[in-house]
Amino acid sequence: MNSRVIAGFDVDAVRREFPILDQQVNGQPLVYLDNAATMQKPAAVIDAIAHYYRHDNANVHRGAHALASRATEAMEQARERVAEFLGGVAREEILWTRGTTESINLVANSWGRANLQPGDEILLTTMEHHANIVPWQMVAAATGARIRVLPITDDGALDLEALPGLLGERTRLVAITQMSNVLGTVNPVAEIARMAHAARALVLIDGAQAINHFEVDVRALGADFYALSGHKLFGPTGIGVLYGRRELLDAMPPWQGGGQMIERVSFDGTTYAQVPWKFEAGTPHIAGAIGLGAAVAWLQNLDRDAAERHERELLARLDTGLDAIAGVRRIGTAAARAAIASFVVDGVHPTDVGVLLDQQGVAVRAGHHCTMPLMARFGIPGTVRASLAPYNTLAEVDRLLVALDKALGFLR
Ligand code: PMP
Repeated sequence: MNSRVIAGFDVDAVRREFPILDQQVNGQPLVYLDNAATMQKPAAVIDAIAHYYRHDNANVHRGAHALASRATEAMEQARERVAEFLGGVAREEILWTRGTTESINLVANSWGRANLQPGDEILLTTMEHHANIVPWQMVAAATGARIRVLPITDDGALDLEALPGLLGERTRLVAITQMSNVLGTVNPVAEIARMAHAARALVLIDGAQAINHFEVDVRALGADFYALSGHKLFGPTGIGVLYGRRELLDAMPPWQGGGQMIERVSFDGTTYAQVPWKFEAGTPHIAGAIGLGAAVAWLQNLDRDAAERHERELLARLDTGLDAIAGVRRIGTAAARAAIASFVVDGVHPTDVGVLLDQQGVAVRAGHHCTMPLMARFGIPGTVRASLAPYNTLAEVDRLLVALDKALGFLR
């Protein structure tokens, strides 16, 4: 199979930038289709992190020496790059966190505890990741706020007809994923944000999955907060971003105390630093931020339209191939979908499918994908999930389909 069939996109050249892909697993060339869990890193990212540790490592902001200023400058440049990447927002609106989970917890604990009153409502959807459910349950328990849930249709799209009935004067926040990590559904977040704002609610968008597939302008989307993880954006683990509108961040109290986030400390009282540092207590993940900056720079050099077309072509092949295998049922068939195919197999547990695919060198994920309410909606314990990146090929999709056919022959 010629892997260069998609015009204008040289997938072989992209693959060469990802050293990890060139290996055998269980005697077969690795086929990595677990990108929704974490993406692989291009050499540019690995090199940026190694360069930092080899040449510039020092703690940021507080040192008066050359290495400390180099480290500080590199980290702050990475912040500027992310600010530009998210649509040219202000650098003060970009907070470093450990990832999407911590970004959402920051909003829940800071904004949520300061603003939510008994009877206030937070609107989520059935397809949210646990990271966009549990922090709200915790803050709801602490404040007396209530969680409401926008349902989904059988094909895995949001039921927008139910939205007006759920958005009301008690709604303070709509927290919604831009793209489902299980169904691949891409949600009309800008439209939902417009409706939420008309009801005077704020909007938090979980961008963990969408950010590596689509260009994102957080202001055009109408996001008051936007959360993402570095490791799902070709960057390192342990680093993520919360974008927040400046006036909201200015008004929010810090959620963790310590060094770096203060202006002045005394036992009579402490004053806090300005944003973004007010929200960045302690030594940050400096190498992670630099690595994420390098990942964003790498992505800015990629032809993203061509990459998206390439992924669409792969997904179409995957969908058609899965539909042709007897006993396989896809979960998530909405019209607006990207890069993810989930499925169940009659009479076979998803984990068994995953293990048999791994034995043939094909890496997928099997389980509930941290979306138990979504699994309950479909009445299933879990799915097998294949998720795509620009470095995947049509030949790899075919390898998955052949391996699946073989696995099912073995299981039946
Ligand atoms: N939201 C979505 C939609 C996700 O896919 C994930 C990761 N699976 C998260 C949130 C949590 O991200 P992290 O574990 O990087 O904090």
